[in-house]
Amino acid sequence: MSFEAAIESEDAMVAFGSRLADAMEPGSVVFLRGELGAGKTTLSRGLARGLGHDGAVKSPTYTLVEPYEHLNPTLYHFDLYRLGDAEELEFMGLRDYVNGESIVLIEWPERGGAFLPAPDLELTIAVTADGRRITAEASTNAGRACLTRLEAS
Ligand code: ADP
Ligand code: MG
Repeated sequence: MSFEAAIESEDAMVAFGSRLADAMEPGSVVFLRGELGAGKTTLSRGLARGLGHDGAVKSPTYTLVEPYEHLNPTLYHFDLYRLGDAEELEFMGLRDYVNGESIVLIEWPERGGAFLPAPDLELTIAVTADGRRITAEASTNAGRACLTRLEAS
């Protein structure tokens, strides 16, 4: 099952992230693909806001993960762009973040290789002439339920 949306501005990307937060089931793993500057972190900011986060949303480019443990569900925002070796994910205990309750959002999943959990949803942001286009692909029941709610929202 898949879903597409045209996103014309940064504000619309934040709003899409918030809609996604409302549609998503706790425990979901989401891969976020797209080139540098596509809007992955902007979408992540909207998602954190949608889950109730008021403060800033930093890009976890150097820390690899930014935890939002005050939210319910808890959000873990990964950015694997600077990951040296996919094996590092094993040492940092990536699998412990995938606990069936938290939302795990992963920018640059292609850097994580076989060490990543299977995603419920894969979002790809493409840069277009008039903004961005998001394609969402669901591969589990939780992912499909999310896309159904997203379409209706
Ligand atoms: P990424 O995390 O994919 O590298 P960022 O979210 O950090 O990308 O940056 C996206 C940049 O593109 C921001 O500077 C944002 O203002 C800009 N931008 C312009 N149009 C859009 C749009 N339609 N959606 C999201 N970001 C946009
Ligand atoms: Mg980013």
